[in-house]
Amino acid sequence: MLKPYAANPEASIGRHYDEPPSELINGVPVRNAFQRDRDRIIHSTAFRRLEYKTQVFVNHEGDLFRTRLTHSLEVAQLARGIARTLNLHEDLIEGIALAHDLGHTPFGHAGQDALNDCMRDFGGFEHNLQSLRVVEKLEQRYAEFDGLNLTFELREGILKHCSIKNAKQIGDVGLRFINKTNPSLEAQVTNFADEIAYNNHDVDDGLRSGLITIEQLQSVELFATQLDIVKTKYPKLEQKRMIHETIRRMINVLVVDLCTQSAKNIAQLNPQNIQDIRQASYLVGFSDEMTTKNHALKQFLRKNLYQHYKVNRMSAKAERIIRELFAVFLGDIGLMPHEFQQYAKEDRARAVADYIAGMTDRFAIREHRRLFAVEEYF
Ligand code: MG
Repeated sequence: MLKPYAANPEASIGRHYDEPPSELINGVPVRNAFQRDRDRIIHSTAFRRLEYKTQVFVNHEGDLFRTRLTHSLEVAQLARGIARTLNLHEDLIEGIALAHDLGHTPFGHAGQDALNDCMRDFGGFEHNLQSLRVVEKLEQRYAEFDGLNLTFELREGILKHCSIKNAKQIGDVGLRFINKTNPSLEAQVTNFADEIAYNNHDVDDGLRSGLITIEQLQSVELFATQLDIVKTKYPKLEQKRMIHETIRRMINVLVVDLCTQSAKNIAQLNPQNIQDIRQASYLVGFSDEMTTKNHALKQFLRKNLYQHYKVNRMSAKAERIIRELFAVFLGDIGLMPHEFQQYAKEDRARAVADYIAGMTDRFAIREHRRLFAVEEYF
């Protein structure tokens, strides 16, 4: 029951390279264009590497924490649920969710900041733009083109934000930043699903790691309200279950608010097609009250988890690894694998950034050791 303003694979703006349509069985395509997009993402190298990349915690710190892969799966699950409620295209939304973090560097935010700093004189580094670069250029799997040749709608969904300067260099998907229009509702929903996923799983991982405590979280209204409900209903519940019961309720409250408010915004506009959505202001969002509560949760996490001294120590180490790898490769591109030496002929610094950005946490650590430790040979 798709709404007329949902993205429609039959009416897709299309792919860079024309491809034959999917085979038909009883007159029905085996896969629609958005399903093909999603399947290509799942089969990509960059997608598999998400398993060994992290956001806050370094991969080897423990097996219990979220990785970029499990994060992306959680985003896809939330986004699909919201898509079904709002009658949007689930296949597209799933594809956007699974691809949204493909361009992330090793070591989460610390890695991205360090690489951006290294690239300061060479056009900078932005993970969001890099996700696009992965699906448009760096994946090399198909005979007839570089990248995955995804639909416009999928690529539009990947690019959450973009500077005007960069937007002018990336063709079709950059235009909306110049024209100040908005992406599909599927893209808008995925942005919020991303945020709901990471805020909540960071609370969970933060508690499990012991870097934040339930007592501290009492100051966050969103958490405290749900914790009270759980404690009243199950006064003797052990802590592990209590935390999960609280977090699942938080997620639910956020998702319900997002669906309710977004449906209201859409109804008010009464859009007839996807063009109406693109021309309108951003329609997906929380109520004002929930925006405030969600903001307080984010602030709490920033102050108490992302800037915890133990996280800072790890970030400092990660930054050093990225900086040293960058300097050594930029100084001698012959130290990189052949394909990146080829890229380096076009743009030396960008090729180094591409190589480093593609690394997993553990590969970057090993690569650093291989290049700097005298007792390592390769
Ligand atoms: Mg994300």
